[in-house]
Amino acid sequence: MSCLYFENTDDPFQATRILLNRMKPFDALSRKSKIILKPNLVVSKPSSSGATTDPRIAEAVIVYLKDLGFSNISIRESSWIGDDTKKAFKVCGYVELSEKYGIPLFDLKGDTAVEMEFNGFKTSIFKSISEADYLINLPLIKGHCQTKITCALKNLKGCIPDSEKRRFHSEGLHRPIACLNGMIKQNLIIADGFITDPGFEEGGNPKQMGIIAISDDPVMMDSFAAFKLGFHPDEIKYLKLCREYGFGTYYRENSGNDPIVRADENLNNIRIHQENACSNCYSNLLSALKKINSGNHEFREDIYIGQSYKGKTFSGTGIGDCCKGASHFIPGCPPSTDDIYMYLADKK
Ligand code: SF4
Repeated sequence: MSCLYFENTDDPFQATRILLNRMKPFDALSRKSKIILKPNLVVSKPSSSGATTDPRIAEAVIVYLKDLGFSNISIRESSWIGDDTKKAFKVCGYVELSEKYGIPLFDLKGDTAVEMEFNGFKTSIFKSISEADYLINLPLIKGHCQTKITCALKNLKGCIPDSEKRRFHSEGLHRPIACLNGMIKQNLIIADGFITDPGFEEGGNPKQMGIIAISDDPVMMDSFAAFKLGFHPDEIKYLKLCREYGFGTYYRENSGNDPIVRADENLNNIRIHQENACSNCYSNLLSALKKINSGNHEFREDIYIGQSYKGKTFSGTGIGDCCKGASHFIPGCPPSTDDIYMYLADKK
C-alpha cells in the first residue's frame, strides 16, 4: 500500500532525515545494491531560483545511506536540451557534494541507451538507469508551462536522450510521460517543495513553500504536488493517464492539503499558439515576455511555437526553426531568451 509523509520545515537536510527515519525504506535492501539518486537539474541554476533540487536533500540521503552501510551510490542526471549537465552539477552544488562524500556524478548525456516499450509506446532509456537496483527520485515540486505541474513522473524525462526528449514534446508529453513510468521503476521519491517556482520549470520566480515530502508512489507524490500548486490531480492529463494504466493512487484530498500557491497563467493577453513545443523553447519565450514586461504592449501578430507547425506556412511570428513557415520567425532550436526578447522588444 502506498504512503506519503511530508514535513513543513526551514531545514531541508533535517526534514529529509526525519522523513527517512519515519519511512525506513532501506531496511530490507541488500547493502550491495546499486543505488542511483536522480535530482532535477534541468538547468544550471541554484535551488534558490526555484528550478532545481536542493543539494541538502541529496546530502541527507547520502549520509543516511552511508550510515546504514551502503556504498554503491551515484548521482545521475541529464539537463534539458541546450543546457550542460556538468555545468548544472557545479552550479547546483552537486560537485561539492560529490567531493565531500566521494559519490560519483554521471552526466547521462554520455550514456548508451536501451530501447523499452510500454503499452505500445517505445522509447530509449539510459542503460545505467535501467540497470539500477534502487532508484531514488529527487524531483522538485514546481509549475510547468505545458503540463501545469512537474514532480516525480516528469522528472524521469532526464533518463532519456535529448532526441527522445524532443520526440516526447512532439507527441504532446502526457502519454509519453505516463508510459515512461511504465518502463522505469522509481523505488523512492523525496520531493523538494522547499523553494519552488509555481509557474515555470526554469525558475526565476521562487516562492518558499517549506515542504519536503517522501513517498513510494510517484502518482501519489504528483497528486500531492498538484494539490500544493492549486490543481486537482485530474487537471494534470498525465496523472489521469497513470491512473487509467493502474500505476498508483491519488493523495487524499482531505488531508490538510490546501493549495499553497497557484501558477500564474497571465500572459498579458498576448496571443500565443503553442502546439507541442519543447520545454526550453517555450520557457525561453516566456522569459523573454517577462523581460519585456508587456502589460501595456499590443503585439500586432500572434505568436506561434511548437513542433506541430513544422512545414506549415502561416501569418504570424514564429519562435524557433519549427516555425520557419511563419511570416516572421526567430531562428534557433531553441532560440535563446535574448534573441526572442530582442526581436519582440523591437516589434512592440
Ligand atoms: S524549434 Fe523549439 S519546439 Fe521546435 S524542435 Fe527546436 S526547441 Fe523544439
